Amino acid sequence: QSDINWFKNRVSLTPEDTAVIDSNSNDIWTYEQLHQRAKYLANYFVASGVQKGDRVALLAPNHISYFDFFFASMQIGAIFVPLNWRLAEAELNYIIHDCNPKIIGIDPLFQEKLNSIKISTDLIIIDNNRYMDNLPSDYFSYEVMIKEDDPLTIIYTGGTTGRPKGAVLSHRSILWNALNTITSWNLNNDDTTLTCLPMFHTGGLNVYTLPLLLIGGKVVIASEFKAEKAVEDLIKYKCTVVLFVPTMYHMMIQTDAFKQSTFPDMKVFVSGGAPCPHKIYDAFAEKGIAFKEGYGLTEAGPNNFYIDPKDTVYKLGSVGKPMLFNDIKIITDDGETAKSDDVGELLLRGNHAFEFYWNKPKQTEETIIDGWIHTGDLARQDKDGYVYIVGRKKDMIITGGENVYPLEVEHWLESDYDIDEAAVIGLPDDKWGEIVVAFVVLKKEMTESELKSYCKKKLTRYKVPKKFYFLNELPKTHVGKINKQILKDRGLVYKDSTL
Ligand code: ATP
Repeated sequence: QSDINWFKNRVSLTPEDTAVIDSNSNDIWTYEQLHQRAKYLANYFVASGVQKGDRVALLAPNHISYFDFFFASMQIGAIFVPLNWRLAEAELNYIIHDCNPKIIGIDPLFQEKLNSIKISTDLIIIDNNRYMDNLPSDYFSYEVMIKEDDPLTIIYTGGTTGRPKGAVLSHRSILWNALNTITSWNLNNDDTTLTCLPMFHTGGLNVYTLPLLLIGGKVVIASEFKAEKAVEDLIKYKCTVVLFVPTMYHMMIQTDAFKQSTFPDMKVFVSGGAPCPHKIYDAFAEKGIAFKEGYGLTEAGPNNFYIDPKDTVYKLGSVGKPMLFNDIKIITDDGETAKSDDVGELLLRGNHAFEFYWNKPKQTEETIIDGWIHTGDLARQDKDGYVYIVGRKKDMIITGGENVYPLEVEHWLESDYDIDEAAVIGLPDDKWGEIVVAFVVLKKEMTESELKSYCKKKLTRYKVPKKFYFLNELPKTHVGKINKQILKDRGLVYKDSTL
């Protein structure tokens, strides 16, 4: 038995230091103030009947209430469930019934969404940063012993490949993800991040936000991502590390603010959550600013790899080497360990791993096998130990018996400056089994045959898309990942009507 409330100890070390800044309201909270807020809310939770293991959910844009709910839950052994406010009512309904929270904190903006969901849960209205003033302040004593493997949060996965699954992260997973991140990326209490990725997603909550609060750094939160404002905030708050997904970088590098800035305080910009187009690497390289690609998944941290910002070896497209406290294995289809540079499924193991999927024993069993998380992602590791993500296993295309990794084709297409974005999928075909098909967003008009000739310059014949579809934009998930399921559905309709 152990009590694993590291936040209490952190606060006693640096009570007066700034912990969180709200870049929308300019409010600032010290570590001590954050702690007081969490204690107050924990009392309220206990008074409302929340017991160890009960869920408390939050439906709000990035806001101080995330920290209130998270650290209050940490104190009393409740399980914090941040909810994705971008979801449609039916999906939200599914998740709320899946996790069945005792209390939901809700921004009035989203109250209507909740009206149609039949639940009798207590609500806390989060209408501003002082929302707790409306809660009764009686003191209730509580004593709970919290063990490392007790659940601390349930984060629903992005839903890129189907219905979101509730990944249960224990106190141990959260702590070890933070320790891994701090030690690998060399974070210290002078570091500051900007969190405008949604905090209901593992990227917004776990990549830099919680690790920095463990080491005593600063977190600047923004309720939404606006490219120009993000650049201004990075400079104004002297941020040193940041995570954005590629879609955000895509928008940011086109702004004048980005082109005119040198970011003197930034140690490293990190991209993660989805494959990063090489054009984005180039935009940073031209400015001489450190830019690295990270890889992660909700179920494992999410942080797993790193590249030392001082590392001068240039490995385009690599997500780096495994973090200190992370075991990795790449296995071939027959379960053998892949040789250097051979592609196989990436397996991960470590204290940062999730415990199980909430209410989904079958999926848990399929994902965690002999202690290893089967990520469903394909990867290769070069002889120097650098890992490259090749794509999702289920996205791999087999055409005429040959394997095609969509990412390779997408990277090549996107390296043409007239092609803004590209997504490659396989569609069923009587002759080839599957055919390679590309969806493109163009900056300048190009014909299908021009696109094919461009592909032939670099790609083997069977990798060249047999069909190109032109779109004004690619469908994206709530955190900006390309939604290939929608493309597959559309592709089937187009194929039947045009081929
Ligand atoms: P779901 O599991 O519900 O389908 P999701 O996979 O989008 O949703 P997340 O945990 O947000 O859920 O995303 C993790 C996935 O994102 C990884 O498994 C991987 O496929 C992809 N990913 C993350 N970083 C990278 C990267 N640098 N390069 C390629 N893919 C990445």
